[in-house]
Amino acid sequence: MTFSIAIVGRPNVGKSTLFNRLVGKKLALVDDQPGVTRDLREGEGRLGDLRFTVIDTAGLEEATDESLQGRMRRLTERAVDMADICLFMIDARAGVTPLDEMFAEILRKRAKNVFLAANKSEGHAGEAGYLESFSLGLGEPVRLSAEHGEGMHDLYLALMPLA
Ligand code: GDP
Ligand code: MG
Repeated sequence: MTFSIAIVGRPNVGKSTLFNRLVGKKLALVDDQPGVTRDLREGEGRLGDLRFTVIDTAGLEEATDESLQGRMRRLTERAVDMADICLFMIDARAGVTPLDEMFAEILRKRAKNVFLAANKSEGHAGEAGYLESFSLGLGEPVRLSAEHGEGMHDLYLALMPLA
């Protein structure tokens, strides 16, 4: 059985970096698949022996008339409804922001299997943000460094029971 994971969170936390790491360079991205706009990138992900579809919520950086918050809410809801599992990412170095709290509220209401990932956790700079993120009410965060490939085994252990 295969499953799907949506990576959601505010801009710049590292969602696409993790997406690229899970999908790898050799696997094609399906940008122009019907029903999947440029705003939601889909790829075939792998982690250890797990195989899954990954959905990246992109396109939030593009300027439009719609407010960033409205756009984030709409895209996140779509991604969450498409996916079996939702990986909610925060930037542990930045700590918990009001936008993160907005996301957490959407996800607590809407998503089936949500888990929290505290990205940019390499070194000690993410320690305070990691601790702070327990307050989001989504359980214990997985500490990751998408850029440096750290925490991937913990990510595997978090995904395995949900798969
Ligand atoms: P997105 O907007 O959530 O998709 O974020 P991106 O993946 O585009 O990353 C935003 C910025 O954060 C980029 O400059 C990345 O290089 C950086 N970044 C991503 N992951 C990490 C990480 O684990 N540690 C650090 N220090 N920076 C990261
Ligand atoms: Mg991105």
